[in-house]
Amino acid sequence: MITMKRHNIILFSTVGVLAWVLVIYSASGFVFQPRETAEVSQERANPDSTCTDNKDPAPDVDISDTTESDDPIAEAPPSTPEPNPRPPASGDSSPATNSAGLLRLANRDNYLGNYTPIDLITGVQGFRYRQIMDADLRAMINSASQDSVSLTISSAFRSRAHQTTLWNNGVANHGLEWANRWIARPGHSEHQLGLAIDFAPVAMAFGQSPAGIWVRQNSWRYGFILRYTEENQHITGFNYEPWHFRYIGRANARLYHETGARSLEEFVSAL
Ligand SMILES: [Zn+2]
Repeated sequence: MITMKRHNIILFSTVGVLAWVLVIYSASGFVFQPRETAEVSQERANPDSTCTDNKDPAPDVDISDTTESDDPIAEAPPSTPEPNPRPPASGDSSPATNSAGLLRLANRDNYLGNYTPIDLITGVQGFRYRQIMDADLRAMINSASQDSVSLTISSAFRSRAHQTTLWNNGVANHGLEWANRWIARPGHSEHQLGLAIDFAPVAMAFGQSPAGIWVRQNSWRYGFILRYTEENQHITGFNYEPWHFRYIGRANARLYHETGARSLEEFVSAL
């Protein structure tokens, strides 16, 4: 009898635990991501997520396209609806995918019009960006901090209206040639996609700082790529920007890293 009772207790306990696990997973709607799940859960409780927007960039920036705070959500509705965002696959070898617009190009040849992402959130450090990169951005910043490296965001989503202001100010203050090298024209900026992050300080010195070195070496693990390098200036048309990182999802970034891709333009055209 004692043995039977023990078996029953063990059986019911096991069933109970499994039921709770199923309830928790189905309630969260969370797609299983190995290794990062714990980090994501912790980070989602971060009080930063309640911060308000309009964070001022670092005071020592030397590039004028970040001398203004990000403005409120856009003036225009999204021109094309996007599918519901889902967390990208983690650490796998999936083929590159442009699902959820993760590989959408914004450059001189690709005009975004009045596009505004439908899944903008106010996230880490009070900045706005697409929800689809929230968990990975938090995981990356958390991981850096475990290595005693502090990653501070300077700029994230910018509306087309904000980009217009930056462009006009850049042309007025530095001339058209300078603006063409440093500032995307309105409707052509990756920041309008809500998938770009500038880390502070927005200065060449960032590239040689512990934060700049860490993020350049590790960002691909979290779905980010250094978008404007010294080697791809002739492809992107922009100068080297060690502070500017673009989110393309983990599977894409891993492939980008492993294949030694030089630019997002070449990566996308090779698909
Ligand atoms: Zn940028």
